[in-house]
Formats: sequence, structure tokens, C-alpha cells
Amino acid sequence: MSAIIEVKSVSKRFGGFHAVNDCTLSVEKGSVTGLIGPNGAGKSTLFNMVAGTLEPTSGTILFDGEDVTGLPSHALYKRRLLRTFQIAHEFSNMTVLENLMMVPDNQTGEGLIGAWFMPVRVGREEEAIRRKAEEVLDFLKITHVKTELAGNLSGGQKKLLELGRTMMTDAKVVLLDEIAAGVNRTLLNDLASNIERLNRELGYTFFVIEHDMDLIARLCDPVIVMAAGSVMTQGHIADIQNDPRVIEAYFGG
Ligand code: ADP
Ligand code: MG
Repeated sequence: MSAIIEVKSVSKRFGGFHAVNDCTLSVEKGSVTGLIGPNGAGKSTLFNMVAGTLEPTSGTILFDGEDVTGLPSHALYKRRLLRTFQIAHEFSNMTVLENLMMVPDNQTGEGLIGAWFMPVRVGREEEAIRRKAEEVLDFLKITHVKTELAGNLSGGQKKLLELGRTMMTDAKVVLLDEIAAGVNRTLLNDLASNIERLNRELGYTFFVIEHDMDLIARLCDPVIVMAAGSVMTQGHIADIQNDPRVIEAYFGG
């Protein structure tokens, strides 16, 4: 395996505060890599830098061997690195199918507002997009909610739709920031099996921030632990969970 994401000595300061401090880590192509750590560890800040929504104060980020440090999210999106976005309220009055059909080509770091202004294409291209959307629904086994308004979906179904939107672009790498929050067990199981299938059958690489340790244990290998802005350790979840430094970081004074 080779690294698809390499973060080298990356720091992010907000004023005088080091949210991320000399962080070095990599994500192997084809892996589902977990990122855990106590609240405030700097996980989301790191994700924002990898996804191009925040510029590092210092350090280098490589994507697929290429220096992408400081590139905006739409440039990374074109290279097919993306993160999921919550369904913006503008989209809750559109059906699930329409939400998928709005995705191609124009996702921005601020959500899908860019796409909102793009008229749905007509003719043959629209037909191809519709077919693709139907394949995505079929893959995720959510064809039964195709004509539901996105706003009426349950929390877990919305997460599946978010995942579906990444599929519309044939993502290579998907960043997931706490997708389990507020999702019931049944749908969490659906979400997890879809992530596994996207990884195994379609070759997606996932980089996953998650608090739900069951989900981490099921999906992620390796798991990287961040604390106070830096990488503390990484390895298999079974070893991580027994590492006294990790236990101290989570539960210590
Ligand atoms: P995590 O996702 O691990 O919980 P974050 O990356 O969200 O942690 O935050 C890391 C630290 O950086 C926190 O102390 C947080 O308050 C701070 N922080 C995050 N974003 C900003 C910002 N835009 N301005 C100032 N401080 C921030
Ligand atoms: Mg966070």
C-alpha cells in the first residue's frame, strides 16, 4: 500500500493558540483510517486543512503524492478528495433523487450552495446523472426513499444521503467527521456496511473522525490518536484501547 494522504509537520495556530501542533500522519490508499482523541484535540481542524477549508500555518499536505498545501476545497474536490456535508436547508425541500442529481461538478467547501445556482442540465447529460443517482440509491439500498423530501428523512437516512452525494462524484477519498452522532443503531449498521462496501467493492479510502468506539473498532484499521494538537500514537484499535497514554488522555486529570 502507499499513502494517499500525507500530513507532514502541519500546524494551525488561531491567534497564539496551537490547535494543531506539528502533526505528522498518513492515510494509506484503500484503508479505512480512524482518527480519535478527546474533544479539542484538533481532529476537525486537521480535517479542515486536509479538505482545503483551512490553510495550515505551517507544514505540508500531500494528496496522492502531490503537494496540495493550501489548495481550496474545490481544487481537492476535483482531485476527488471530499468530505460529507450536512444537507443544507436549501435542499431539504428537494427529493432525495434531486439532491443526488444536484451534486456533480460544483461542490464547494461551504456546502452545496454553489451547485444550487447551477441549473440542472438538460437532455442526455441529465439522463446520465439521473441514472447514476439511481445506481447510488440502489447501492446504498435507499431506493424506497427516492421521492421523499430530504428534510423528512431520519438522521441516519440523511447520513446515507450525504454518503450518496460523495458517490455521485466517484470520490477516491472521503473524510467523515462524526457521522454516528444522533444516528440510531439500525441505520448506523447500514451506514457502516455501506462504508465497508464502498471500501472493498469500489476502492474508496476513508478517513474517519468518530467518538463511537464500536464503529471505530468495526471499521477502522489503523486508528490514529490525537491529543492536544499532536499525534499521540497509532495502531490497531485493540492495542490503542489498552495504551495507558491513550487512557490517560481520555480520562486523566
Ligand atoms: P476536535 O475536533 O478534536 O474536538 P477541534 O479541531 O475542533 O477539536 O478544535 C481544536 C482546538 O482548536 C479547540 O480548542 C478549539 O476550541 C480550537 N479552535 C478550533 N477552531 C477554532 C477557530 N476557528 N478559532 C479559534 N480556535 C479554534
Ligand atoms: Mg471535531
